[in-house]
Amino acid sequence: MKNRILLCLCGLTPQVITEAVYCLAHYEPQFIPDKLEIITTSRGKMHILESLLHPMQGKFNLLCKEYNLNIFFDESCIHVVDFQKEYLDNFETKNNNLKMMDLILAIVRNLCLPQENQVYACLSGGRKTMSFYLGMAMQFYAKENDELFHVLVNKEFENHPEFYFPPKIEKQIVSVDSKSGKLTYFSSKDAKLVLYKVPFVRLRPLGVVKDIEKISFAKQVKYVQETINKSLKLHVNIGKRTLVYGNRMVELTPMEMALYCFFVKKKLDCPQNKCILNCTKCFVSVYDLDVDVLIRFLNKIKGHWNPNSAQLYQLKQKGDIKSWFFPHRSRINRKIKKVFGSIGLIESEKRYAGTRYGLNIDKKNLILED
Ligand SMILES: [Zn+2]
Repeated sequence: MKNRILLCLCGLTPQVITEAVYCLAHYEPQFIPDKLEIITTSRGKMHILESLLHPMQGKFNLLCKEYNLNIFFDESCIHVVDFQKEYLDNFETKNNNLKMMDLILAIVRNLCLPQENQVYACLSGGRKTMSFYLGMAMQFYAKENDELFHVLVNKEFENHPEFYFPPKIEKQIVSVDSKSGKLTYFSSKDAKLVLYKVPFVRLRPLGVVKDIEKISFAKQVKYVQETINKSLKLHVNIGKRTLVYGNRMVELTPMEMALYCFFVKKKLDCPQNKCILNCTKCFVSVYDLDVDVLIRFLNKIKGHWNPNSAQLYQLKQKGDIKSWFFPHRSRINRKIKKVFGSIGLIESEKRYAGTRYGLNIDKKNLILED
């Protein structure tokens, strides 16, 4: 059996909660949660207890009664970040902000992980930063049928202290008219609540998210980024003269390709067992550039017999391969930088004995194709 949960953020206007419940109940397809979970501050919690859960005039109870909804919601569903035994009233400080991020991450994780839970998370309410963290946390942990949404309410009713949901029986509400700026009577029938589902990327099914319970927001972000980076490979295709990384591509001229392949070969033949991103054991001096190897690569480039091989031999005889190498390296790096950033650049490393050159990539992620 499904356990349907509505997760809401709340600042000082608990209306966002009743509005969200109302909208979901009137949305197609309808979603009536079994339970609410709220993330808020201690002041937000006071407002919720007073205006939504008051035993006599609590607006949440009224909403459920009026629309015949059976939803579990009491004080135990309200999560307030506890900061050194004091309730957190605002999270202006860096520490408090980190606590809030981590709390949102932990709650979303615990709600989304069980297969039987279906979580709808509402981005309305709370501060903008809270909404952003909630959206991010959903990207990390949401399952296929977990959703992210927000509710828009027309100006006259938005955050209005007397408006919590459109009642079945019409009600008059005094509000400031957005056009004239004067106090005007509005009918509750004029309230327009619109629910928007927010599309987002679900990362957990890709196996790039760490599932452990006590992970900070910052560590999760770092882990996901590193895992994605590691899974991307640089494909060097000699015949097509292309470098492909993810869905991006760089095209090289035959001469550039020959030079690039020289460095690819050096990397693949690296004597270092674990030739990772910053390994420079596979870096070589410009004097190690082997013209014969370059020409062998040139010959491999299909349909491009290149008169430049003769030019390369001449340079070799003159002992002036340097003057050819530098402009070619610059052109290759310019092309790569524009498309891939720093991945796959021909990097240099200054050493006592002179500068050495090599590729900026993990050997595991480098694939040479004919
Ligand atoms: Zn290496």
